[in-house]
This record gives sequence, structure tokens and C-alpha cells, in this order.
Amino acid sequence: MNEQETQLKTRHNFGDFLYWNLIVSVPFITACMAIAKDSILWLVIYIIICILLVMVIYKFYCTHCPHYIQSAKNTKCMFFWGVPKFFKEKSGPLSLLEKTVALFIPLVLVLLPIFYLLLQPGLLVIYFLSVIVLCTTLRRYECKRCIYFQCPVNCAEK
Ligand code: SF4
Repeated sequence: MNEQETQLKTRHNFGDFLYWNLIVSVPFITACMAIAKDSILWLVIYIIICILLVMVIYKFYCTHCPHYIQSAKNTKCMFFWGVPKFFKEKSGPLSLLEKTVALFIPLVLVLLPIFYLLLQPGLLVIYFLSVIVLCTTLRRYECKRCIYFQCPVNCAEK
């Protein structure tokens, strides 16, 4: 692994934000397509639940993140760009509840559209492959140089 891949990344830029949102958009759009084929109402409900769960992560997990804390009024990081800091920033380690939110909610987000994806095996395969690409790329290129040391999956050398 070259130096650029292991050096701590103290700031994200707009290119990071675009890249990671494109990567996330593949499983998300795949899930939306699977649900929309069956029910537009459930598609709307799915999107609303996703937004609410992301806000829960934003409140309990992101508020400890240096990228959240160092942003002025709006968060600027690899996943959010210009999103207002609705919640008070918190320094110090995550509580057990916050750690649980950080690990459990992403799992819920991944499993949420499974019922509709099982009805369309082709989309199910694309969905799981894109989720695997998302997780492995995150691990390989971000977790190893992330400055959010309190994060339960951080694996950067301190
Ligand atoms: S980098 Fe990750 S943990 Fe930090 S504010 Fe952005 S989404 Fe939240």
C-alpha cells in the first residue's frame, strides 16, 4: 500500500463526497428499483425510513466525528456536504448506545429492502455485490487513514 493510502486524512474534499455518494447510490437505486416494481407507496416509505435512520446515525455517531466538529455550520465530509449541524457536537468516546447505533443502524439499512430484492434475484445479486464493494473500498481506502479514532471500526495507526 503506498503512502497516500495510509496517511491520515484530516479533511475530505468535494470530490470525496461525490465519489462516496456515487458508490452508495448503486445499492440504493437498485433497492429503489426492486421496491418500485411492486409498490410506489412502499418506495416512498422506504426512502423516508432511510432518511430518518441516516438522521439517527448523524445524531448519535457523527456528532463525535472530527469532520463534523471541525465543520463550521454545515457538515462537509465524504458523505455529507453542506448539511446543517442540527445536533450539538460531542467530544470524547462514544457511549454504548452510540456504538450500538453506529453498528446496528447500517445493518438495518442494508437489510431493509431484502423482501423486495428476493422477488428479483438479478437485482439482489447487484445489490449485494455493490454493498460488498462499498464496505471493502471504505475499509481499504478510508478506515485505515481515518481521524475518527473513537469509531468502533477505525483501523488507522495512531
Ligand atoms: S465522516 Fe462519517 S462519521 Fe464523520 S461526519 Fe461524515 S459521515 Fe459522519
